Amino acid sequence: MTESVIPIFDLRDHRYRSMTPVIPRVLAAPSGLVADTRGRPLHDLRISVTDRCNFRCVYCMPKEVFDKDYTFLPHSELLSFEEIERAARLFVAHGVEKIRLTGGEPLLRKNIEKLVEMLARIETPAGKPLDLTLTTNASLLARKARPLRDAGLTRVSVSLDAIDDATFRRMNDVDFAVADVLDGIETAQAVGLAPIKVNMVVKRGTNDAQIVPMAAHFRGSGIIVRFIEFMDVGASNHWQMGEVLPSAEVVRRIHEAFPLEAVAANYSGETAERWRYRDGAGEIGVISSVTHAFCGDCSRIRLSTEGKLYLCLFATEGHDLRALLRGPHSDLEIASAIAEVWRARTDHYSEQRSDPAVRRARADSKIEMSYIGG
Ligand code: SAM
Ligand code: SF4
Ligand code: SF4
Repeated sequence: MTESVIPIFDLRDHRYRSMTPVIPRVLAAPSGLVADTRGRPLHDLRISVTDRCNFRCVYCMPKEVFDKDYTFLPHSELLSFEEIERAARLFVAHGVEKIRLTGGEPLLRKNIEKLVEMLARIETPAGKPLDLTLTTNASLLARKARPLRDAGLTRVSVSLDAIDDATFRRMNDVDFAVADVLDGIETAQAVGLAPIKVNMVVKRGTNDAQIVPMAAHFRGSGIIVRFIEFMDVGASNHWQMGEVLPSAEVVRRIHEAFPLEAVAANYSGETAERWRYRDGAGEIGVISSVTHAFCGDCSRIRLSTEGKLYLCLFATEGHDLRALLRGPHSDLEIASAIAEVWRARTDHYSEQRSDPAVRRARADSKIEMSYIGG
Protein backbone atom coordinates (compact mmCIF):
# COMPACT_ATOMS: atom_id res chain seq x y z
CA MET A 1 0.00 0.00 0.00
CA THR A 2 1.43 3.39 -0.99
CA GLU A 3 -0.75 5.86 0.85
CA SER A 4 0.88 9.12 1.77
CA VAL A 5 -0.75 12.25 3.10
CA ILE A 6 0.81 15.67 2.57
CA PRO A 7 -0.49 17.74 5.47
CA ILE A 8 0.08 21.13 3.84
CA PHE A 9 -2.93 23.40 3.70
CA ASP A 10 -1.60 26.75 2.61
CA LEU A 11 -3.68 28.22 -0.22
CA ARG A 12 -0.66 30.16 -1.44
CA ASP A 13 1.55 27.20 -2.20
CA HIS A 14 -1.30 25.23 -3.72
CA ARG A 15 -0.37 21.93 -2.19
CA TYR A 16 -3.75 21.05 -0.81
CA ARG A 17 -4.06 17.86 1.17
CA SER A 18 -3.91 14.79 -1.01
CA MET A 19 -3.36 11.08 -0.91
CA THR A 20 -1.93 8.76 -3.50
CA PRO A 21 -4.59 6.42 -4.95
CA VAL A 22 -4.05 2.81 -3.98
CA ILE A 23 -3.51 0.24 -6.71
CA PRO A 24 -5.83 -2.65 -5.82
CA ARG A 25 -4.45 -6.19 -5.51
CA VAL A 26 -6.94 -7.47 -8.07
CA LEU A 27 -6.73 -5.51 -11.32
CA ALA A 28 -9.70 -5.24 -13.67
CA ALA A 29 -9.84 -3.79 -17.16
CA PRO A 30 -12.27 -0.83 -17.40
CA SER A 31 -15.74 -1.90 -18.53
CA GLY A 32 -16.94 1.54 -19.63
CA LEU A 33 -19.09 1.87 -16.53
CA VAL A 34 -18.02 2.59 -12.97
CA ALA A 35 -20.43 3.85 -10.31
CA ASP A 36 -19.82 5.63 -6.98
CA THR A 37 -21.47 4.83 -3.61
CA ARG A 38 -24.60 6.71 -4.73
CA GLY A 39 -24.83 4.87 -8.04
CA ARG A 40 -23.53 7.85 -10.06
CA PRO A 41 -21.56 6.91 -13.20
CA LEU A 42 -18.38 8.70 -14.30
CA HIS A 43 -19.16 10.65 -17.49
CA ASP A 44 -17.57 14.03 -17.37
CA LEU A 45 -13.89 15.02 -16.92
CA ARG A 46 -12.75 18.60 -16.36
CA ILE A 47 -9.07 19.23 -16.84
CA SER A 48 -7.40 22.34 -15.49
CA VAL A 49 -4.40 23.15 -17.68
CA THR A 50 -3.06 26.16 -15.78
CA ASP A 51 -3.64 27.89 -12.44
CA ARG A 52 -2.73 31.26 -13.96
CA CYS A 53 -5.12 33.86 -15.30
CA ASN A 54 -4.87 37.34 -16.79
CA PHE A 55 -8.17 38.38 -15.11
CA ARG A 56 -8.82 38.94 -11.42
CA CYS A 57 -12.57 38.32 -11.31
CA VAL A 58 -13.73 39.46 -7.90
CA TYR A 59 -15.57 36.20 -7.17
CA CYS A 60 -12.74 33.91 -8.30
CA MET A 61 -9.23 35.40 -8.01
CA PRO A 62 -9.61 38.51 -5.84
CA LYS A 63 -6.63 40.83 -6.20
CA GLU A 64 -5.90 40.98 -2.50
CA VAL A 65 -5.11 37.23 -2.50
CA PHE A 66 -3.85 36.68 -6.04
CA ASP A 67 -1.42 39.59 -5.95
CA LYS A 68 2.16 40.02 -7.20
CA ASP A 69 3.47 37.92 -4.30
CA TYR A 70 1.19 34.99 -5.04
CA THR A 71 3.15 31.87 -6.02
CA PHE A 72 1.70 29.99 -8.96
CA LEU A 73 2.74 26.44 -9.74
CA PRO A 74 6.16 26.05 -11.40
CA HIS A 75 6.12 24.41 -14.82
CA SER A 76 7.65 21.15 -13.53
CA GLU A 77 4.60 20.63 -11.29
CA LEU A 78 2.15 20.78 -14.21
CA LEU A 79 1.00 17.64 -15.94
CA SER A 80 2.57 17.43 -19.38
CA PHE A 81 0.31 17.05 -22.42
CA GLU A 82 1.39 13.41 -22.67
CA GLU A 83 0.40 12.80 -19.05
CA ILE A 84 -2.94 14.53 -19.56
CA GLU A 85 -3.65 12.50 -22.67
CA ARG A 86 -2.78 9.22 -20.95
CA ALA A 87 -5.05 10.07 -18.00
CA ALA A 88 -7.84 11.12 -20.39
CA ARG A 89 -7.67 7.79 -22.23
CA LEU A 90 -8.03 5.90 -18.95
CA PHE A 91 -11.05 8.01 -17.96
CA VAL A 92 -12.66 7.47 -21.35
CA ALA A 93 -12.22 3.71 -20.88
CA HIS A 94 -14.23 4.13 -17.66
CA GLY A 95 -17.12 5.84 -19.44
CA VAL A 96 -16.13 9.51 -19.72
CA GLU A 97 -17.67 10.97 -22.88
CA LYS A 98 -17.20 14.65 -22.24
CA ILE A 99 -13.96 16.53 -21.54
CA ARG A 100 -13.79 20.22 -20.69
CA LEU A 101 -10.48 22.11 -20.59
CA THR A 102 -10.41 24.86 -18.04
CA GLY A 103 -8.16 26.68 -15.58
CA GLY A 104 -7.20 29.45 -14.62
CA GLU A 105 -7.34 30.69 -18.17
CA PRO A 106 -6.77 27.67 -20.43
CA LEU A 107 -5.72 29.73 -23.45
CA LEU A 108 -2.69 30.93 -21.47
CA ARG A 109 -1.24 27.41 -21.54
CA LYS A 110 1.40 27.38 -24.27
CA ASN A 111 0.46 25.32 -27.34
CA ILE A 112 -2.96 24.46 -25.95
CA GLU A 113 -4.08 23.60 -29.49
CA LYS A 114 -1.55 20.74 -29.45
CA LEU A 115 -3.30 19.25 -26.40
CA VAL A 116 -6.68 19.72 -28.09
CA GLU A 117 -5.37 17.84 -31.11
CA MET A 118 -4.19 14.95 -28.91
CA LEU A 119 -7.49 14.73 -27.01
CA ALA A 120 -9.62 15.06 -30.14
CA ARG A 121 -8.14 11.79 -31.40
CA ILE A 122 -9.50 9.82 -28.45
CA GLU A 123 -12.67 7.82 -29.13
CA THR A 124 -15.15 6.29 -26.70
CA PRO A 125 -15.19 2.47 -26.39
CA ALA A 126 -18.18 2.58 -28.80
CA GLY A 127 -16.02 4.38 -31.36
CA LYS A 128 -17.67 7.79 -30.98
CA PRO A 129 -15.72 11.07 -30.81
CA LEU A 130 -15.56 12.80 -27.44
CA ASP A 131 -17.57 15.87 -26.63
CA LEU A 132 -14.50 18.11 -26.25
CA THR A 133 -14.95 21.68 -25.10
CA LEU A 134 -13.19 24.53 -23.35
CA THR A 135 -14.17 27.34 -20.98
CA THR A 136 -12.41 30.65 -21.51
CA ASN A 137 -12.56 34.32 -20.59
CA ALA A 138 -12.10 34.93 -24.37
CA SER A 139 -9.27 37.43 -23.96
CA LEU A 140 -7.18 35.38 -26.42
CA LEU A 141 -10.04 33.80 -28.35
CA ALA A 142 -9.91 36.06 -31.38
CA ARG A 143 -6.33 34.85 -31.91
CA LYS A 144 -6.85 31.22 -30.91
CA ALA A 145 -10.30 30.28 -32.26
CA ARG A 146 -9.10 29.09 -35.67
CA PRO A 147 -6.10 27.01 -34.49
CA LEU A 148 -8.33 25.46 -31.83
CA ARG A 149 -11.01 24.61 -34.38
CA ASP A 150 -8.37 23.18 -36.74
CA ALA A 151 -7.03 21.06 -33.87
CA GLY A 152 -10.47 19.46 -33.40
CA LEU A 153 -12.28 21.61 -30.85
CA THR A 154 -15.97 21.74 -31.73
CA ARG A 155 -17.44 24.17 -29.25
CA VAL A 156 -16.55 26.66 -26.57
CA SER A 157 -18.01 28.34 -23.47
CA VAL A 158 -17.15 31.97 -22.82
CA SER A 159 -17.43 33.73 -19.47
CA LEU A 160 -18.88 37.23 -19.59
CA ASP A 161 -20.42 38.79 -16.50
CA ALA A 162 -21.95 41.96 -17.97
CA ILE A 163 -22.68 43.59 -21.29
CA ASP A 164 -22.18 47.02 -19.75
CA ASP A 165 -18.51 47.86 -20.14
CA ALA A 166 -18.01 49.63 -16.79
CA THR A 167 -19.65 46.77 -14.85
CA PHE A 168 -17.59 44.16 -16.70
CA ARG A 169 -14.32 46.02 -16.13
CA ARG A 170 -15.15 46.21 -12.42
CA MET A 171 -15.84 42.48 -12.27
CA ASN A 172 -12.75 41.28 -14.15
CA ASP A 173 -10.75 43.88 -12.17
CA VAL A 174 -8.05 44.22 -14.86
CA ASP A 175 -9.94 46.77 -16.96
CA PHE A 176 -10.68 44.34 -19.79
CA ALA A 177 -13.28 45.63 -22.27
CA VAL A 178 -16.55 43.89 -23.21
CA ALA A 179 -15.84 44.71 -26.88
CA ASP A 180 -12.75 42.48 -26.84
CA VAL A 181 -14.72 39.52 -25.44
CA LEU A 182 -17.41 40.07 -28.08
CA ASP A 183 -14.68 40.12 -30.70
CA GLY A 184 -13.47 36.70 -29.50
CA ILE A 185 -17.02 35.34 -29.58
CA GLU A 186 -17.54 36.67 -33.09
CA THR A 187 -14.35 35.01 -34.34
CA ALA A 188 -15.33 31.73 -32.68
CA GLN A 189 -18.71 31.90 -34.44
CA ALA A 190 -17.09 32.78 -37.75
CA VAL A 191 -14.77 29.75 -37.68
CA GLY A 192 -17.71 27.47 -36.87
CA LEU A 193 -17.25 26.67 -33.18
CA ALA A 194 -20.83 25.82 -32.16
CA PRO A 195 -22.85 25.96 -30.05
CA ILE A 196 -21.26 28.84 -28.17
CA LYS A 197 -22.43 29.27 -24.61
CA VAL A 198 -21.87 32.40 -22.56
CA ASN A 199 -21.62 32.00 -18.77
CA MET A 200 -22.54 34.86 -16.48
CA VAL A 201 -21.94 34.54 -12.74
CA VAL A 202 -24.63 36.58 -11.02
CA LYS A 203 -23.68 38.41 -7.83
CA ARG A 204 -26.57 40.21 -6.21
CA GLY A 205 -25.80 43.91 -5.90
CA THR A 206 -22.80 43.69 -8.26
CA ASN A 207 -24.09 42.67 -11.69
CA ASP A 208 -27.68 41.48 -11.26
CA ALA A 209 -28.91 44.61 -13.07
CA GLN A 210 -27.15 43.09 -16.12
CA ILE A 211 -29.37 39.99 -16.32
CA VAL A 212 -31.99 41.41 -18.68
CA PRO A 213 -29.49 43.43 -20.78
CA MET A 214 -27.37 40.25 -21.25
CA ALA A 215 -30.47 38.28 -22.27
CA ALA A 216 -31.51 41.09 -24.64
CA HIS A 217 -28.05 41.28 -26.22
CA PHE A 218 -27.74 37.58 -27.03
CA ARG A 219 -31.40 36.85 -27.91
CA GLY A 220 -31.65 35.74 -31.52
CA SER A 221 -27.87 35.26 -31.92
CA GLY A 222 -27.82 31.46 -31.55
CA ILE A 223 -25.69 31.93 -28.42
CA ILE A 224 -27.06 30.46 -25.19
CA VAL A 225 -26.49 32.56 -22.06
CA ARG A 226 -26.30 30.60 -18.83
CA PHE A 227 -26.79 32.44 -15.56
CA ILE A 228 -24.78 30.88 -12.73
CA GLU A 229 -25.46 31.35 -9.04
CA PHE A 230 -22.45 32.75 -7.17
CA MET A 231 -20.96 29.76 -5.33
CA ASP A 232 -18.96 29.31 -2.13
CA VAL A 233 -16.03 27.69 -3.90
CA GLY A 234 -12.59 28.18 -2.41
CA ALA A 235 -11.70 30.17 0.64
CA SER A 236 -10.82 33.57 -0.77
CA ASN A 237 -13.93 35.09 -2.35
CA HIS A 238 -15.77 36.15 0.86
CA TRP A 239 -18.93 34.33 -0.24
CA GLN A 240 -22.14 35.26 1.51
CA MET A 241 -25.59 33.83 0.93
CA GLY A 242 -26.93 37.38 0.68
CA GLU A 243 -24.99 37.84 -2.57
CA VAL A 244 -26.60 34.83 -4.24
CA LEU A 245 -29.48 35.75 -6.53
CA PRO A 246 -31.63 32.60 -6.84
CA SER A 247 -32.06 31.36 -10.42
CA ALA A 248 -35.84 31.49 -9.94
CA GLU A 249 -35.47 35.27 -9.69
CA VAL A 250 -33.27 35.34 -12.83
CA VAL A 251 -35.97 33.47 -14.76
CA ARG A 252 -38.70 35.74 -13.33
CA ARG A 253 -36.88 38.90 -14.43
CA ILE A 254 -36.16 37.65 -17.95
CA HIS A 255 -39.67 36.23 -18.33
CA GLU A 256 -41.11 39.63 -17.48
CA ALA A 257 -39.16 41.21 -20.35
CA PHE A 258 -39.19 38.29 -22.81
CA PRO A 259 -41.70 35.49 -22.02
CA LEU A 260 -40.07 32.09 -21.46
CA GLU A 261 -41.15 28.46 -21.30
CA ALA A 262 -39.32 25.47 -19.78
CA VAL A 263 -37.45 23.00 -22.01
CA ALA A 264 -36.64 19.39 -21.08
CA ALA A 265 -33.01 18.55 -20.18
CA ASN A 266 -30.78 17.29 -23.01
CA TYR A 267 -29.47 14.46 -20.84
CA SER A 268 -29.50 13.27 -17.24
CA GLY A 269 -26.88 15.11 -15.20
CA GLU A 270 -27.14 18.35 -17.21
CA THR A 271 -26.19 21.17 -14.84
CA ALA A 272 -28.22 23.90 -16.53
CA GLU A 273 -31.99 24.10 -16.40
CA ARG A 274 -33.16 25.15 -19.86
CA TRP A 275 -35.70 27.80 -20.84
CA ARG A 276 -36.65 29.08 -24.31
CA TYR A 277 -38.08 32.35 -25.51
CA ARG A 278 -41.72 31.91 -26.51
CA ASP A 279 -41.13 34.06 -29.59
CA GLY A 280 -38.51 31.62 -30.92
CA ALA A 281 -35.47 33.85 -30.25
CA GLY A 282 -33.46 30.99 -28.72
CA GLU A 283 -32.84 29.73 -25.22
CA ILE A 284 -31.15 30.48 -21.91
CA GLY A 285 -29.99 28.29 -19.05
CA VAL A 286 -29.77 28.73 -15.29
CA ILE A 287 -27.31 26.88 -13.09
CA SER A 288 -28.64 26.77 -9.56
CA SER A 289 -25.77 25.16 -7.69
CA VAL A 290 -26.77 26.89 -4.46
CA THR A 291 -30.58 26.97 -4.41
CA HIS A 292 -31.24 23.69 -6.20
CA ALA A 293 -28.50 21.12 -5.66
CA PHE A 294 -27.95 18.66 -8.49
CA CYS A 295 -25.56 16.29 -6.69
CA GLY A 296 -27.92 13.36 -7.33
CA ASP A 297 -26.83 13.27 -10.99
CA CYS A 298 -23.27 14.55 -10.60
CA SER A 299 -20.99 12.49 -12.80
CA ARG A 300 -18.07 14.95 -12.88
CA ILE A 301 -14.46 14.40 -11.87
CA ARG A 302 -11.82 17.12 -11.93
CA LEU A 303 -8.12 16.84 -12.70
CA SER A 304 -6.07 19.73 -11.34
CA THR A 305 -3.17 21.41 -13.11
CA GLU A 306 -0.70 19.39 -11.06
CA GLY A 307 -2.53 16.12 -11.55
CA LYS A 308 -4.72 15.75 -8.48
CA LEU A 309 -8.16 14.28 -8.85
CA TYR A 310 -11.06 15.96 -7.11
CA LEU A 311 -14.42 14.28 -6.74
CA CYS A 312 -16.31 17.48 -5.96
CA LEU A 313 -15.92 21.19 -6.67
CA PHE A 314 -16.06 21.76 -2.91
CA ALA A 315 -13.54 19.08 -1.99
CA THR A 316 -10.81 19.71 0.54
CA GLU A 317 -8.63 16.78 -0.42
CA GLY A 318 -7.38 15.40 -3.74
CA HIS A 319 -6.07 12.09 -5.04
CA ASP A 320 -2.57 12.40 -6.43
CA LEU A 321 -2.88 10.81 -9.85
CA ARG A 322 0.40 12.39 -10.95
CA ALA A 323 2.27 10.23 -8.44
CA LEU A 324 0.96 7.18 -10.31
CA LEU A 325 1.45 8.66 -13.80
CA ARG A 326 5.10 9.42 -12.97
CA GLY A 327 5.68 6.03 -11.34
CA PRO A 328 6.39 2.61 -12.82
CA HIS A 329 2.72 1.70 -13.24
CA SER A 330 0.87 0.17 -16.16
CA ASP A 331 -2.32 1.62 -17.64
CA LEU A 332 -4.24 -1.29 -16.14
CA GLU A 333 -2.88 -0.54 -12.66
CA ILE A 334 -3.69 3.16 -12.91
CA ALA A 335 -7.15 2.53 -14.39
CA SER A 336 -7.88 0.11 -11.53
CA ALA A 337 -6.77 2.72 -8.97
CA ILE A 338 -9.01 5.36 -10.60
CA ALA A 339 -11.97 2.98 -10.45
CA GLU A 340 -11.38 2.45 -6.72
CA VAL A 341 -11.29 6.21 -6.11
CA TRP A 342 -14.58 6.73 -7.98
CA ARG A 343 -16.29 3.72 -6.36
CA ALA A 344 -15.56 5.14 -2.90
CA ARG A 345 -16.99 8.59 -3.78
CA THR A 346 -19.65 9.91 -1.40
CA ASP A 347 -19.55 13.68 -2.19
CA HIS A 348 -22.75 15.73 -2.26
CA TYR A 349 -21.72 19.07 -0.77
CA SER A 350 -24.43 21.22 -2.37
CA GLU A 351 -27.04 19.09 -0.61
CA GLN A 352 -25.24 19.65 2.70
CA ARG A 353 -24.46 23.35 2.33
CA SER A 354 -27.40 24.47 4.47
CA ASP A 355 -25.84 22.65 7.45
CA PRO A 356 -23.66 25.28 9.20
CA ALA A 357 -21.44 22.57 10.73
CA VAL A 358 -20.54 21.24 7.26
CA ARG A 359 -19.88 24.78 5.99
CA ARG A 360 -17.71 25.60 9.01
CA ALA A 361 -15.69 22.39 8.71
CA ARG A 362 -14.72 23.24 5.13
CA ALA A 363 -14.56 27.00 5.39
CA ASP A 364 -10.80 27.48 5.07
CA SER A 365 -9.74 24.41 3.17
CA LYS A 366 -11.85 24.19 0.01
CA ILE A 367 -9.91 24.20 -3.24
CA GLU A 368 -9.91 27.42 -5.28
CA MET A 369 -11.87 27.62 -8.54
CA SER A 370 -8.82 28.98 -10.39
CA TYR A 371 -6.87 25.89 -9.30
CA ILE A 372 -9.44 23.32 -10.29
CA GLY A 373 -11.49 25.07 -12.96
CA GLY A 374 -15.26 25.42 -13.37
N1 SAM B 1 -10.89 31.40 -16.97
C1 SAM B 1 -11.90 30.65 -17.62
C2 SAM B 1 -13.21 31.36 -17.58
O1 SAM B 1 -13.39 32.29 -16.77
O2 SAM B 1 -14.08 30.98 -18.36
C3 SAM B 1 -12.06 29.23 -17.10
C4 SAM B 1 -11.93 29.00 -15.62
S1 SAM B 1 -13.18 29.73 -14.61
C5 SAM B 1 -12.68 29.24 -13.01
C6 SAM B 1 -14.57 28.70 -15.01
C7 SAM B 1 -15.93 29.24 -14.67
O3 SAM B 1 -16.08 29.31 -13.27
C8 SAM B 1 -16.20 30.64 -15.19
O4 SAM B 1 -17.38 30.64 -15.95
C9 SAM B 1 -16.38 31.44 -13.93
O5 SAM B 1 -17.26 32.50 -14.10
C10 SAM B 1 -16.89 30.41 -12.95
N2 SAM B 1 -16.70 30.76 -11.54
C11 SAM B 1 -15.55 31.12 -10.93
N3 SAM B 1 -15.77 31.38 -9.62
C12 SAM B 1 -17.09 31.18 -9.40
C13 SAM B 1 -17.94 31.27 -8.26
N4 SAM B 1 -17.48 31.63 -7.06
N5 SAM B 1 -19.25 30.97 -8.40
C14 SAM B 1 -19.74 30.60 -9.62
N6 SAM B 1 -18.99 30.47 -10.73
C15 SAM B 1 -17.68 30.77 -10.62
FE1 SF4 C 1 -9.75 34.00 -14.44
FE2 SF4 C 1 -11.86 32.60 -15.14
FE3 SF4 C 1 -11.35 33.01 -12.55
FE4 SF4 C 1 -12.12 35.05 -14.03
S1 SF4 C 1 -13.32 33.22 -13.56
S2 SF4 C 1 -10.39 35.04 -12.60
S3 SF4 C 1 -11.25 34.59 -15.99
S4 SF4 C 1 -10.12 31.84 -13.95
FE1 SF4 D 1 -21.11 17.51 -7.88
FE2 SF4 D 1 -20.00 18.32 -5.60
FE3 SF4 D 1 -21.35 20.05 -7.14
FE4 SF4 D 1 -22.66 18.15 -5.79
S1 SF4 D 1 -21.52 19.83 -4.92
S2 SF4 D 1 -23.00 18.75 -7.94
S3 SF4 D 1 -21.18 16.46 -5.89
S4 SF4 D 1 -19.46 18.97 -7.70
